[in-house]
Amino acid sequence: MAQRFYSTSSTDESVDLREAVLRSLPADNGLYMPRSVPVMDEAFWAHWRGWSFAELGYRIVSSIFAGAVPEKPLRGMVTDAVNFDAPLVTIAEKMHVLELFHGPSLAFKDFGARFMARLMAWLTRDDERDLIVLVATSGDTGGAVASAFHGVPGTKVVVLYPSGKVSDLQEKQLTTLGDNITALEVAGTFDDCQRLVKAAFLHCELAEERNLTSANSINIARLIPQAFYYFHAARQLPEGAEPVFVVPSGNFGNLTAGLLANLMGLPVRQFIAATNVNDVVPAYLESGSYEPRPSQPTISNAMDVGAPSNFVRLLDLCRHEHGLMADRIVGCRFDDEQTRAAIREVKASTGYVIEPHGAVGCLAAGAWRADHPGDEMIVLETAHPAKFLDVMEEELGEGAVEIPERLACLADREKVAVKMPPDEEAFLRWLGEAKV
Ligand SMILES: *Cc1c(COP(=O)(O)O)cnc(C)c1O
Repeated sequence: MAQRFYSTSSTDESVDLREAVLRSLPADNGLYMPRSVPVMDEAFWAHWRGWSFAELGYRIVSSIFAGAVPEKPLRGMVTDAVNFDAPLVTIAEKMHVLELFHGPSLAFKDFGARFMARLMAWLTRDDERDLIVLVATSGDTGGAVASAFHGVPGTKVVVLYPSGKVSDLQEKQLTTLGDNITALEVAGTFDDCQRLVKAAFLHCELAEERNLTSANSINIARLIPQAFYYFHAARQLPEGAEPVFVVPSGNFGNLTAGLLANLMGLPVRQFIAATNVNDVVPAYLESGSYEPRPSQPTISNAMDVGAPSNFVRLLDLCRHEHGLMADRIVGCRFDDEQTRAAIREVKASTGYVIEPHGAVGCLAAGAWRADHPGDEMIVLETAHPAKFLDVMEEELGEGAVEIPERLACLADREKVAVKMPPDEEAFLRWLGEAKV
């Protein structure tokens, strides 16, 4: 039977793939999870090392979906979404970095966002109206989502970003795509952007009439493709290796996907959750008490999260047993000073240029290795160093980071954005008048 999805807050009921993906958030404020997690069979393990990355991804998602999407379109979606590699780079003996930044927005979020875009388009293929995707961004998410949907037929994206509060480069990523992507420059804060998006969804009539959906980071369609690269990383190691995965974490989507891969049969010795000073999950792993708190700004800012949204999924996958979670996941945290030192140290000892999020991971890997010298370590490198040029040049000097062409070329493109006051009425009127 095709896969069903339950909410972590009411596990007795379930919905189909279409509802889980297009609603994104269940009404009860839980998060969607697949009803049953498949274990990969012998036929999979007999061939998994030989397949292309896209084929590997297809095999994984098709066993999770269990017929919810027919083979041909599903294979097409994965092939379109996973059109770049995730190479495993060995920087020292038994120390590897999994580079997840070779997609268009230079961060691992491309995997999830690109797959979700294609899946949403397929799920709404018979709708007469275009699907309108609303997304509020404080910087990075908007770029990944906008580029993921760019040119996907039957979809339009409206990205709301706070004027003057995203970096120049991030703004260019949002405002230069054109076509089916519209950028709204909101004269306010990120919270204002979120409030406007929320107002649109609360306006049921408008939401229905304009066929609105959200591209929230907690959408189940973004989580599943993140499991692909755990398998892909492991198969780049010698046969029989059981790696330790080090996951720089903020909202813990990436780590959740790792646990999912593990439940599907991928051998993993240990997961390590590496955070900056926003360490509510490492603190929980140690003490058993979960105490979310406001986030503190750091140089690894994509991990500045004080109440990680995927924590409920981690609990769910660990059957709400603290002991089980603490057994599977070791937590550790590092401050900015340590992170800066790690950027210099990794460069000096290996020649590898690692950005702040990956550097937090390297610190965690180093700490683990001190006690477990024989383990194969894989650190997930979640973004390209060019995205954090200021910090990189402060630590390694000017010119230390090569700027990829797809980022460099943005500088010359012209920004196009619609100015919007932080006012719900104005936004709803604009949306209702079908300006997109
Ligand atoms: C989003 C992000 C993270 C955090 O990932 P989670 O899945 O939220 O834990 C880490 N590093 C970078 C560069 C990111 O963009």
